Amino acid sequence: MTHHYRDLNLTDPANGYLHFVVQAEARLGVARSLLNAEVSLAVQTPFLQEWVARLVRCEPNALHCAIVEPRQIPTLFHPCIEEDGEASPVAADCVCRKAMYDPEFGLPVVVQHANITGSADVTRWIYRTFAPLALRPHDSFGSLIVDRDGSLWVRTGEGILSLLPQSRALGYDFGYDGGGPHALAAYLSQVAATDGQVTAAGAPYARAHPAILAWTQSSAVEQGARELTLIDLKEMRRS
Ligand SMILES: [Zn+2]
Repeated sequence: MTHHYRDLNLTDPANGYLHFVVQAEARLGVARSLLNAEVSLAVQTPFLQEWVARLVRCEPNALHCAIVEPRQIPTLFHPCIEEDGEASPVAADCVCRKAMYDPEFGLPVVVQHANITGSADVTRWIYRTFAPLALRPHDSFGSLIVDRDGSLWVRTGEGILSLLPQSRALGYDFGYDGGGPHALAAYLSQVAATDGQVTAAGAPYARAHPAILAWTQSSAVEQGARELTLIDLKEMRRS
């Protein structure tokens, strides 16, 4: 399902999958995505590894600059001490950031290198990207995945892993009575009500089905990785 914002068609298949609206305000020192929610992934789980495995290295572009803080933009061009062939990976803290993109969804990804000096085993990679505003035009919703660190993924009907579509204005959360669980429940209710066909982020709170809302507000969601299929969601909605 295509995501529309006023007169902008943000997922027009004829013009490429994703077009970003970048908000730049020099006075405030702001240059960021206006519509897509930012996502940061640091815990190495099987789902993160599956997604990382398909990422492709690229030159930094304007969208990578929109992911990082303005002062960090130069680090997008720093060489990595693991790649220059001379320095030991643990010789110093490396502050490089690598620019990548997801070839399935076209999303920019910045990979931050965080070496911890003197500890050979501790090399951390932090992945920062944007959630899509919708799955691709011919994708359907297959299942929701709540990762063990709370990251939210979706597997499409064809088995492709994606971050859960999410807009900046309606961030998701779970485990309490508040806006985040309402936004997540509204999105999942929309998916269940349309048999997985309408995947655009931004469903209004009023669309949240009581049973699905009760689930997103419960602490059960936080107890380890779990996968909820479209059939599960539809059954919750019928309860
Ligand atoms: Zn590095």
